[in-house]
Amino acid sequence: MNQPARELHALEAADRELVDGVLARRPRALAKAITLVESTRRDHQARAEAVLAALLPHTGQAIRVGISGAPGAGKSTFIEALGLHLIARGHRVAVLAVDPSSTRSGGAILGDKTRMEKLSTRPEAFIRPSPSGGSLGGVAEKTREAMLVCEAAGFDVVIIETVGVGQSETTVAGMVDAFVLLQLPNAGDDLQAIKKGIVELADLVVVNKADLDPKAAEFAKHQFENALGLLRSTSAHWRPKVLTLSAQTGAGVADFWAEIERHRKTLEASGELAQKRRRQAVDWMWTLIDAELRNRFRHHEGVRQDLEKVSRAVTAGSITPAAAAHRLLEHLNEKP
Ligand code: GDP
Repeated sequence: MNQPARELHALEAADRELVDGVLARRPRALAKAITLVESTRRDHQARAEAVLAALLPHTGQAIRVGISGAPGAGKSTFIEALGLHLIARGHRVAVLAVDPSSTRSGGAILGDKTRMEKLSTRPEAFIRPSPSGGSLGGVAEKTREAMLVCEAAGFDVVIIETVGVGQSETTVAGMVDAFVLLQLPNAGDDLQAIKKGIVELADLVVVNKADLDPKAAEFAKHQFENALGLLRSTSAHWRPKVLTLSAQTGAGVADFWAEIERHRKTLEASGELAQKRRRQAVDWMWTLIDAELRNRFRHHEGVRQDLEKVSRAVTAGSITPAAAAHRLLEHLNEKP
């Protein structure tokens, strides 16, 4: 394996043009490249891999921020306020989404064009709704790759939004530098996040809508500080912080970004950022391997023929799950 990875893929002439277009920061090329990356067609996947390999040397420079919160917490209001603040400071901001529920409901987050109205008209911003990819793994895979395309197109801040459902927070936390939990100032909501263990993932907890009831927001802040005090830190050099802000008035948004920058500097200075990204890359490789193995297993002819019968036997208790798994996996040793 002396060959650099990117030479393993041949780039077609049209795709070379696409790569050049992305690097030249042309919006149409960017959108086209992401559409290619999101495609589930086998031939597109091979081309997408080649395009990504060509773009890879131009990625990695952005600050990657994950923002999670229940519907109504104020994610889109906050991201719009933050995005406009960042653009005013000379940044270019890409906003992507991981929303496994969008495949069922037809677009729960970011699907609505009226969201982030001001931000979406700015040429320094790029907003992409959640791809419809089936499983969370599929959606997340595409979002992660879209993030790399955005970085190659010169976006120096990438925000990945996700809703507080199931595994999506863990998945997003695994692809960003800083993970932010957006909360409402009411105790029930706070306890939910603490109970579900999501708070443990957070580098920053933001209590939004502080304008409505500043006292309640302060109270929620203290509750989180107490909860975080009992939890381990997200890194050796960073202790999670709790902030209050108002996405609607913009109060606290600048302080929020200052905190993200402080987090970034802390992780960079200690070497943790590079380490974290390397770990994420290897984890990601294994996620993809697991997904592909599972895919091949399910599509294997022998498995397909035997699966229902074996599943029924497990349900009926006439075979142990371990023996069933063993028997089904044995099919992979058959000659095709
Ligand atoms: P999302 O579902 O998490 O994206 O939440 P939205 O950004 O759509 O916000 C839900 C509602 O809360 C909207 O009506 C917003 O106008 C409102 N909202 C968001 N942030 C604030 C805030 O800081 N203060 C107040 N008063 N309302 C807010």
